[in-house]
Amino acid sequence: MSIVVAGSVNVDFILRVAALPRPNQTITGRDMAVAIGGKGLNQAVACARLGAVTRMIAAVGDDGFAGQALAYLGDNGVDTAKVTALAGVATGVANILVAEDGQNMIVVTPGANARLTPAMVDAAGDAIAGAKALIVQLETPLDAVQRALELARRHRVMTVLNPAPVQAGAKALFALADLVTPNETELAALTGIDDLDDDALTRALQVLLAAGAKQAVVTLGAQGCATLIDGRLARVPAFTVQAVDATGAGDHFNGALVSRLVLGEDLLTALRYASAASALSVTRPSADSAPTAAEVEAFLNR
Ligand code: ADP
Repeated sequence: MSIVVAGSVNVDFILRVAALPRPNQTITGRDMAVAIGGKGLNQAVACARLGAVTRMIAAVGDDGFAGQALAYLGDNGVDTAKVTALAGVATGVANILVAEDGQNMIVVTPGANARLTPAMVDAAGDAIAGAKALIVQLETPLDAVQRALELARRHRVMTVLNPAPVQAGAKALFALADLVTPNETELAALTGIDDLDDDALTRALQVLLAAGAKQAVVTLGAQGCATLIDGRLARVPAFTVQAVDATGAGDHFNGALVSRLVLGEDLLTALRYASAASALSVTRPSADSAPTAAEVEAFLNR
């Protein structure tokens, strides 16, 4: 029942400031936290914490951050044998400024993530062929993402494409996806439809299916998520919780969803589980908030 996640690894520097700086201004930050992240890594950790045998395909640099990221993956039970460390390259970094009023400014330097190649994916072909599901996102080059999807399809492995962030050319990959999982912003970028009423969501999800995806789920933050069942919109409400940090909610949702689909659970049941896992994650600070299976069970039975 293993899951392969091909995607990004970033080190996040989260700087808390009173107000965002203006150009040429130097300001003093309140504090700084370092978090290991990246959509790919977050989703892999989410799967592994929920008990799935999880392998990651990724590229890191040869700096100190690479070792930290690999140790973090390993500590969480993710197999890193197919993570390539590239000599002379920096590990991906995100510099995140968060102001008191909640506004932020983010600079992502992709580093090694931009060097993930189809050849690296080919080198992990056995892992993909032996998996139950593959999850990819769009923080790495599209040719590598495409190769991973193609290999999975060839071996009848379930393919899940989280089209985040939306890149030009993303839709061409949909024909290789058994499931696509945009959030509402990504759905609007992909379809040009940004209303969220039932009719608009139905039309937008149909656009994704017409592009070749076999199934589509849109996540709507505190409004839950929605999918099409027999052509009709089915909404799964979010659990009501005290949210403190929604960073990575979509990543935890995707990891949890796939960890249940590989067990053979039907889509609506798996969506409810994913909603519980991601609701739990937003009650905790930072993106390092993926729950364990025992925590999700306790939450569902509370
Ligand atoms: P992303 O992080 O990609 O923007 P969303 O914000 O849509 O993703 O969140 C993904 C899922 O996480 C939602 O479908 C929902 O189930 C859950 N979630 C997000 N925010 C909240 C919240 N404030 N309360 C409860 N659940 C939430």
